[in-house]
Amino acid sequence: MTFPCPACDADVPSPPRAFGRCPACGVVLRARLRGGEGPLRTFDVDAVGRPGARRTVEAPWTESDERSLRAWLSWSTAITLGLVLVLLALARWLR
Ligand SMILES: [Zn+2]
Repeated sequence: MTFPCPACDADVPSPPRAFGRCPACGVVLRARLRGGEGPLRTFDVDAVGRPGARRTVEAPWTESDERSLRAWLSWSTAITLGLVLVLLALARWLR
């Protein structure tokens, strides 16, 4: 996907990221996630060093986002389960 640069309106050929750079004017772009309900996520994209240059960009979830979310979910589930087991073992052992 592309989104328009908040400073110069040129198309930036990538989804919004935490830090990026506009290939046309070279300004540093900083995106912040504002909301993520449904199939689209809303980002506030600021041009660093250009006060007032802000644009709201809606971006679909990318495959790597979904992959990292799935990885994060399975890791956090495993860690939570492991913690519960450790606490159970401790409770039994300390009795
Ligand atoms: Zn630009």
